[in-house]
Amino acid sequence: MPKPKVAIYWCASCGGCEEAVVDLAEDILGILDAVDIVFWPVAMDFKKSDVAALPDQALFATLLNGAIRTSDQEEMARLLRRKSRHLVAYGACASLGGVPGLANQFSREQLLRFAYDEAPTLGADRKTRPALETRHNGHPLVLPELDETVRSLDQVVEVDYYLPGCPPTPKLTQAALLALLSDNPPPRGSVLAPDIALCDECPRKASKPQDLSFSEFKRPHQMMIDAEKCLLAQGLVCCGPATRGGCGAQCIGGNMPCTGCFGPTSRVRDQGAKILSSLCANVAAKDETAIQRTLDGIPDPLGTFYRYALPRSILRRSGYAAAETTPK
Ligand code: SF4
Ligand code: SF4
Ligand code: SF4
Repeated sequence: MPKPKVAIYWCASCGGCEEAVVDLAEDILGILDAVDIVFWPVAMDFKKSDVAALPDQALFATLLNGAIRTSDQEEMARLLRRKSRHLVAYGACASLGGVPGLANQFSREQLLRFAYDEAPTLGADRKTRPALETRHNGHPLVLPELDETVRSLDQVVEVDYYLPGCPPTPKLTQAALLALLSDNPPPRGSVLAPDIALCDECPRKASKPQDLSFSEFKRPHQMMIDAEKCLLAQGLVCCGPATRGGCGAQCIGGNMPCTGCFGPTSRVRDQGAKILSSLCANVAAKDETAIQRTLDGIPDPLGTFYRYALPRSILRRSGYAAAETTPK
């Protein structure tokens, strides 16, 4: 009997999610016993036309990583949706918009202007933007168009499952594939990781005070971090309370605060707002100047609280049109 066909594809991605699949190491052999990978551009020479030629729903599953930022990424997302029985948003970028989603602080024109007109590293022939259509040796060359905003995969097509993480762990990847192949797959729409807060699986949870009180916030390089004590209790911004568990508290194990890459639990609508409100509600200072001094310890609030989920947040994008700021 033919094995189920699987595709792996990347859109606006750093490549880390592809590495995560490779990090399955010898466990990938067990997966290859169960499935045929028929499309994986980073590793195998199959073409878009090979996918287009497949009957609809011919792929058992597609793991798609990266956010949707360009016209060709949207086209591939729609094609793979049509060809797949299970479409998995693989990793924080596909699930939530991810780090590329921080570009939603700026309009497309602001980004292009900075990249091609104003960046200090540009040479004398600055202000040359790539043409979307050109000809070379008589052949037409077409570039994909940059969308106005970065979107998560489910803001473009219907998604069946979400695998969180930046990137997802090999253990979760393997478990997800085996769960999909089982006789009793998880309900559609599931996030394929435990629905618990990271604090619940954190080895430091016993030292997290019931009532937190912040007189200052510090960044990891500004202090000697106690390797046993809850990081929030030490004044570091740890997103553990608003973040889904399942990673094994990897960053905490490395004595670094959680930055929130597993996204929210099902009980949290907006991960950034949740961590922001829980920190601000516990600032000890009462007068405005002292409150501001405390909050000065978080120099990049949007990048801190919405690092992985700005496109899927209630905000979706920030009010750049009025500010007309330029990327730094
Ligand atoms: S989720 Fe993280 S590792 Fe995966 S593509 Fe996005 S930035 Fe890279
Ligand atoms: S706030 Fe951070 S360090 Fe503290 S218990 Fe939660 S995950 Fe662990
Ligand atoms: S500790 Fe937080 S940032 Fe680190 S891997 Fe886990 S969820 Fe991601």
